[in-house]
Amino acid sequence: TAKRGQSGCEVYAPSMDAASQESLSLLSELRHAIDAGELRLFLQPKVDLHRQRIAGAEALVRWEHPTRGLVPPMEFIPFAEQTGFIRQITAWMLHASAQTWINLQREGLAVPISVNLSTRDLMDQDLPIKVADLVAGVPPSALCLEITESAIMDDPQRALQTLEQLHALGFKLSIDDFGTGYSSLAYLKQLSVDELKIDRSFVMNMERDIDDAKIVRSTIELAHNLGLSVVAEGLETAKAWTLLQTLGCDQGQGYLLARPMPGEQFAQWLRTWQP
Ligand code: C2E
Ligand code: CA
Ligand code: CA
Ligand code: CA
Repeated sequence: TAKRGQSGCEVYAPSMDAASQESLSLLSELRHAIDAGELRLFLQPKVDLHRQRIAGAEALVRWEHPTRGLVPPMEFIPFAEQTGFIRQITAWMLHASAQTWINLQREGLAVPISVNLSTRDLMDQDLPIKVADLVAGVPPSALCLEITESAIMDDPQRALQTLEQLHALGFKLSIDDFGTGYSSLAYLKQLSVDELKIDRSFVMNMERDIDDAKIVRSTIELAHNLGLSVVAEGLETAKAWTLLQTLGCDQGQGYLLARPMPGEQFAQWLRTWQP
């Protein structure tokens, strides 16, 4: 149903389905979003549950759309992933995270920042070089890269290689949403990761559901047996904090501490935070 327009580019007849038309316009809007400076970096703190101090922050992307307002990542990340555009978003986030870290350090408030990588990023053979380039000026150990289990299992050999190189460059690595993907413990053993993040679905239900509590407990044990640090996502209540502490979990992240906030507000938040 596409015919050649006079300019030689394709003109789409109205019969093109609404969904693909919407995708096309979303893609061009996303492209525009980066150039127009519409992406925002939000930060959400992670707390050391035992020492009761802020141990780091996760960088989460938002899209400040001129008419739609603040668009949450779930409304464009999956699409960006499908189209490969995620690589540009990742690059933007890495660069913005590095800038944020440098600004925090100037104020004596630097904490490690975690950045999310996607399957597409892991498939990019030049990823390690690109990351190193984008965050030049920040010690690699101040950056943690979060990767989901499913991103690794998509092409484990390739992912393993890329992660090995990132690790060799000194970046910290974290397995995100642990327990939700079809992970393989065999690969986990081979990976040079530093941290496991327990998916928030387990943490948020563990006070009500004995099975979720058991999953949280075994994940903490597994992580520690493998020499990894463990973070609980979805920390929403004081009761959960106490329970996680009892179970020996190292860090927590969730609404109990703070919702993700604009990067510029984080320094102020850090200065005033009290356990
Ligand atoms: P994620 O990596 O698992 O990030 C944690 C998500 O959990 C965030 O949602 C955060 O706001 C939310 N969260 C944190 N604490 C709590 C809590 O106590 N309760 C509840 N109910 N939720 C909590 P957000 O920011 O909407 O991001 C959703 C997902 O979008 C992320 O999940 C990640 O998969 C993806 N994402 C966000 N930013 C990026 C990015 O820069 N790059 C990539 N590749 N993916 C991103
Ligand atoms: Ca994450
Ligand atoms: Ca997660
Ligand atoms: Ca998640």
